[in-house]
Amino acid sequence: MEDKKELEMNKLRREVRRLKKNNETLRIANEQVIHTQEYIQKNLEKQIFYTNQLLRSTSDIIILTDKELNIIMESGGMQNIDESYNEAIHKSGGKLDSVLKLIVNDEDRKRILEAGKRALKGEKVSPLIVSVNEGSKETEWRAGIRTMESANGIVGISIIMVEVTDLLDAVEKAKDADKAKSNFLANMSHEIRTPMNAITGMSEFIIRDSKDEAAVKNAKMIKAASKSLLSIINDILDFSKIESGKLEIIKNKFYPASLLNDIITMMLVKLQDSNVELKLDIDPDIPALLNGDEDRIKQILINLLGNAVKFTKKGFIKLKVTFEEETDDRGFLIMSVFDTGIGIKEEDISKIFDDFTRVDTRRNRNEEGTGLGLAIAKNLAELMGGDLTVKSTYGKGSTFTVKVEVDVLDSEPMGELTNREKEREEEAYRPAITAKGASILVVDDNEMNLEVTEGILEPYGMEIVCVSSGREAIEKFKNQKFDLIFMDHMMPVMDGEEAMRHIRNLPGGKDAVIIVLTANAISGVGEEYKKMGFQEFLSKPIYPKNMDAIMREFLPPDKIQIQ
Ligand code: ADP
Repeated sequence: MEDKKELEMNKLRREVRRLKKNNETLRIANEQVIHTQEYIQKNLEKQIFYTNQLLRSTSDIIILTDKELNIIMESGGMQNIDESYNEAIHKSGGKLDSVLKLIVNDEDRKRILEAGKRALKGEKVSPLIVSVNEGSKETEWRAGIRTMESANGIVGISIIMVEVTDLLDAVEKAKDADKAKSNFLANMSHEIRTPMNAITGMSEFIIRDSKDEAAVKNAKMIKAASKSLLSIINDILDFSKIESGKLEIIKNKFYPASLLNDIITMMLVKLQDSNVELKLDIDPDIPALLNGDEDRIKQILINLLGNAVKFTKKGFIKLKVTFEEETDDRGFLIMSVFDTGIGIKEEDISKIFDDFTRVDTRRNRNEEGTGLGLAIAKNLAELMGGDLTVKSTYGKGSTFTVKVEVDVLDSEPMGELTNREKEREEEAYRPAITAKGASILVVDDNEMNLEVTEGILEPYGMEIVCVSSGREAIEKFKNQKFDLIFMDHMMPVMDGEEAMRHIRNLPGGKDAVIIVLTANAISGVGEEYKKMGFQEFLSKPIYPKNMDAIMREFLPPDKIQIQ
């Protein structure tokens, strides 16, 4: 009995010990829970503190709203803008609409709200540019609107507004600077072309009139140099137009045979004294009459062939032209220029179409160029619905292939090309006609230009009257009728257009032949001058050959004597 009791007691003692131990474990666990809670609480406070700091210190405007567009949280950017904001937000009951009224105008407020509502429907909204009223000044802000989503879906929106006034200003300034650059280039080209007229004209006289061989040789060099300077100016002008998106493709009907003949003749002249042979592979089945921008196609070909001549010292240059039909009345003219020249390194190939880029300059340092030609050619080809590609092996040669889209006007095959012999451009030009008995009035405010034009006209043996202003031209016309009037466009006081209009209103003026002289090299300008009321235009510098074409077309036939 005693033993049983003792056993019972021991059991109880053990139970008490176990309970005590459990109790201790519970106490420790409880302490740990309290610790953890304290830790979480502290961290939460820290988190809230930092979030608040972040919101307070940012100068951006950050607004978080619920699904009803009630503001849940906002950044200090708002307080910076309106000090009475805190009070106002209280009064407004924290409605986004009323708060926006404080900072943006009515229209922008509606735009933001509308975008917010669209975002809440799950639509993606693009950032808005809005004006914020900061007391006395107005600033521009970019407002990005996004939805906030939890596991249960959209719970509200966030609006983050960043000030972009300076950025927009900078963009505006960059645009202005770009415009100024284009204007500068256009003006500069105009200004340069005018004195160039004098240079080419004067050298032309020396070549024609001088008996001194050395002087003639020098004059030819001046003429060649001014020609290449003119082509650089044209490149820069084209390039600035491509950059500003102002370059237009002007389609007209053209005969591919005649275009190719001109190009081939030019090449034969260029390669006359070189060891490089010109090979041709021209498909006779190219349609006879096409519609496209002949001048621009010529410009690309001249550039590619010009490069081939520059970079090929021996072997041959081949021009291959084919036609790829797309539909009955449209297709691609495909022109390839092969050369056995220096070739282009593989790593340079991708660079050659970049603006102002020339490669392998150590080897090419003696060659003239701006590095603009291929950039322009590629852009032109693309504007004409095609492209320009290149394949090259360094040391062996290159192939440039240009593709342009054209309309077919006459699908008859153009046939085999015959190489018409043309007179060399470098030779002085002697007109094959005279026009004794004809009279001509030349109007230009620049003395030098008057002299050049007079000099070019002199061999025709006609009466030449020169005046230096629109007003004088009108006075002269009142007393004498002329067979032809050359009128400079840009003149101070009264420009050529105004003078032409005055003359048109005088007796006999309606049918007077008035040709405008212009340094404006922009293509398509001819049509504009015709619309103004001029019969034709002649671009400066004046080449005697172009002048001769005008003489033949516009002088009365009975006053022309064939030599
Ligand atoms: P430019 O000839 O005025 O320098 P381009 O834009 O026409 O400018 O040509 C850019 C560069 O591409 C040239 O300077 C030359 O390095 C390279 N290149 C062009 N055509 C050829 C060619 N046929 N053979 C070798 N290199 C060429």
